[in-house]
Amino acid sequence: MSSASLENILRKYDGSPHNLLQILREVQEAEGWISPERVAELEQALAMPRSKIVGAASFYSFLHLEPVGHYRILFSDNITDRMLGNQALMEQLCNLLWVEPGKVSEDGLVSVTTTSCTGMCDQGPALLVNGRAITRVDAARIEALAERVRNQVPLAEWPAEWFQVDDNVRRRDILLDSQFEPGSALRALHARVETQGVQASNPRSWREGLPRGLVGPATMLDEVKHANLRGRGGAGFTTALKWEACRNAPLAPGQDRIVVCNADEGEPGTFKDRVLLTSHADMVFEGMTLAAYAVGARRGFLYLRGEYRYLLEHLEGVLARRRRDHLLGHNILGIPGADFDIRIHVGFGAYVCGEESALIESLEGKRGTPRNRPPFPVTNGYLDQPTIVNNVETFAATSLIALHGGEWYRNIGTAQSAGSKILSVSGDCERPGIYEFPFGVTVAEVLEACGARDTQAVQVSGPSGFTIAAHEFERKICFEDIPTAGAFMVFDKRRDMFEVARNFVHFFAHESCGFCTPCRVGTSLLRNLMDKLHNGQGSPYDFQEIERLNHILQAMSHCGLGHSACNPVLDTIEKFRPAYEARMVHRDFTPAFDLDRALSQARQMTGRDDEMAHFGTEHGDAR
Ligand code: SF4
Repeated sequence: MSSASLENILRKYDGSPHNLLQILREVQEAEGWISPERVAELEQALAMPRSKIVGAASFYSFLHLEPVGHYRILFSDNITDRMLGNQALMEQLCNLLWVEPGKVSEDGLVSVTTTSCTGMCDQGPALLVNGRAITRVDAARIEALAERVRNQVPLAEWPAEWFQVDDNVRRRDILLDSQFEPGSALRALHARVETQGVQASNPRSWREGLPRGLVGPATMLDEVKHANLRGRGGAGFTTALKWEACRNAPLAPGQDRIVVCNADEGEPGTFKDRVLLTSHADMVFEGMTLAAYAVGARRGFLYLRGEYRYLLEHLEGVLARRRRDHLLGHNILGIPGADFDIRIHVGFGAYVCGEESALIESLEGKRGTPRNRPPFPVTNGYLDQPTIVNNVETFAATSLIALHGGEWYRNIGTAQSAGSKILSVSGDCERPGIYEFPFGVTVAEVLEACGARDTQAVQVSGPSGFTIAAHEFERKICFEDIPTAGAFMVFDKRRDMFEVARNFVHFFAHESCGFCTPCRVGTSLLRNLMDKLHNGQGSPYDFQEIERLNHILQAMSHCGLGHSACNPVLDTIEKFRPAYEARMVHRDFTPAFDLDRALSQARQMTGRDDEMAHFGTEHGDAR
């Protein structure tokens, strides 16, 4: 990379240390990795200590401070990818390319390893090559892929259909079925304010004395409040309360309010945001603009998960068009007080950045470590400014509310869960994909719609959510019963629910950010315990250990990842106990580490026939 190229990147990001991660991404995209020379140059240019640059970069699994293969291949390793045979496919590729999993080939040409979940569960098995998703991988595709790697064919010349990502929308409702016109929600809101003034669909006497410039934002806030919109990220916090707190937070001189769209959907089994951003981006950006209008923000960010990097150019194109059409920028559609623009921040494969305060840290160019709360982001968020963070689907719903009114919206769904929910359905069913239902749909109805047969369990809301067994299939998807961020993974009777839980526990151990000891150590111990059961060394003692770890993780972890890490194990122990009891092969405690087994390979290599020699028995002497 020439110094002029680096200068261009720095200029693009205002030479600001807060944009460090995006600068590093562009450097890596140009050179394949972030070399010590580039780190030294950035140290000078950004006036940042090297330790901060390296510390931030080393946090993210998609940023590389060491050379990686010219072709970097990451197999998606979600449980549904495993069910589709990803492990055999990875082994096949490694054999064809003569490369060990997790290592770079000796000639530096290729590396092959796994990543948690690429958000392609409806069209898996999937993998990423240099950040680009290849879907529907099978043995023939692996063979053809290996050949292209060996012949060093540029990615741009690989068959386009390999990179095809389908929306797979199977059921539409109010949101996915709306023929949304860019700007229509902003115009509808403005028209309502202009024609009805304080007599909007839900008149509030408190608006009567408001200065004219504040009537529009108050009307938007009021519609969202009246709609009873709740956050679609899973927790279901009341959106209007969050926005109101941000709007009312005092601003220090030079500060702004900030709107952030959390498109870092890293929960395994979730891929609805992928579809919203691909085919309904205007609805999402317009929702952000309406939110900004309501809270009085002028700056916004879309935090795009690294696995969706391929959407960046498309999303930048939508933003550019919206700027041209006066739907972003200064004085949007001539509406007083509507000044707002959006920047896209690409993430780097850290699940914990889905947590809002970790996401804000990452936006500021730092490691994605969750913050202590309070203070909350609504008062002290991005660069200590009042910030709202909402889910992609929440912003899309905001556009609908502005368009049709809060009254219309609250009449859809259930008493406490207004509107619709988009579900990402994957696993053992005939028609995996995207399903939108009004809140209140039962698990059984979703299973029927997606063509699931002989289902024994559904994992709702990903590994941190709920394992729903067959006797619970009449339960409802809504905040009153089963809240969800959207993942709906189906497991039929062929599946071993112990292995499902073990996969989830491995995921948590891998994604723990390591900041707090209970989670860093606890998730690893939990993983080891599950592996111990898997290896046939389980005893009732291990059940007690799992219970103990759960208490520690629940009580002492710093954020939701640690709190929920035991959920899949506890749920499956309760509902699929035989799967665990089959692994309780010992009555008494049995250590996980078997020294004799560990030494067996060395014995074999040296031709020794002295099993148990380390005990100093008649078979041998320990000395
Ligand atoms: Fe990080 Fe886990 Fe602690 Fe959360 S609970 S801060 S993910 S170590």
